[in-house]
Amino acid sequence: IPTPHLTLNDGRAIPQLGLGVFLVDPAEAERIVSDALEVGYRHIDTAMIYKNEEGVGRAIANSGIPREELFITTKLWNSDQGTDSARAALDTSLSKLGLDYVDLYLIHWPAPKYGKHVESWQTLVELRSSGKARSIGVSNFMQTHLDDLAQVSDVVPVVNQVELHPAFQQRELRAFQEPRGTLTEAWGPLGQGKYELAELPGLAEIAERHGKSVQQVAIRWHLQEGIIVFPKTSKRERMIENADIFDFELSADEMATIAAADRDERVGAHPLNTD
Ligand code: NAD
Repeated sequence: IPTPHLTLNDGRAIPQLGLGVFLVDPAEAERIVSDALEVGYRHIDTAMIYKNEEGVGRAIANSGIPREELFITTKLWNSDQGTDSARAALDTSLSKLGLDYVDLYLIHWPAPKYGKHVESWQTLVELRSSGKARSIGVSNFMQTHLDDLAQVSDVVPVVNQVELHPAFQQRELRAFQEPRGTLTEAWGPLGQGKYELAELPGLAEIAERHGKSVQQVAIRWHLQEGIIVFPKTSKRERMIENADIFDFELSADEMATIAAADRDERVGAHPLNTD
């Protein structure tokens, strides 16, 4: 897969396309991630709360792929926020993954109920120095939470991973965080299958014109927008389909058509309501 790489604000490179494993059954995770690695994916997005880090780790170990060719992300769960608990949580994730380091460690949600996102960020900075997390970032942060970090720390999150798809494009948040050096990662890039991408104006026509599926068009759109994307599928054919997006390009008109299809509608949870 000829995946482009983006440069993070700490100088490291991230493959722009990966596989997400939310809702991947722990018993199936090894097979699914092994398939993805065979198909050519090198970037896997998991989280402690997905409960499948062990399967992901076994697939990595069995793949024989040199560690430095892989980009592995996991996330700090809300109830593990705080200094000692965050340190322990990363150690637990590393041991489940069978790794000495993750490429990217994210605070999964701001979880305002706990009031610990700032303290957790300072701990992630320390974990980066220790080498256990090569890069550090956040997920589901709103502008106010990013501001909270900036008040106490010079370390800018390399990414903010947020819900983002053609019906919920996050233009305002992107315009805030990207100029400050935080790249945008999309979760739910296919709308989690909760609406038909083809029902958005213009999507089906664009797909037809290029001989691609609407899902392929959506993934291609993320890449051309400069967003990092890791659609989830457990099916090998769809892993191949979702990566078969490097032989066409959306025109400026087509990008504008998709931009106009934004209806500012979430399919997932609101960051302030998740703890
Ligand atoms: P997604 O938008 O990737 O959608 C997945 C759904 O689309 C699945 O039901 C799958 O069967 C279907 N699908 C995949 N490829 C398809 C294709 N080619 N044709 C038709 N249907 C297809 O949703 P997601 O899994 O929620 O998001 C992707 C990843 O983002 C997750 O796996 C996870 O790694 C991450 N994520 C993070 C958070 C967070 O809070 N940080 C929340 C949700 C997801």
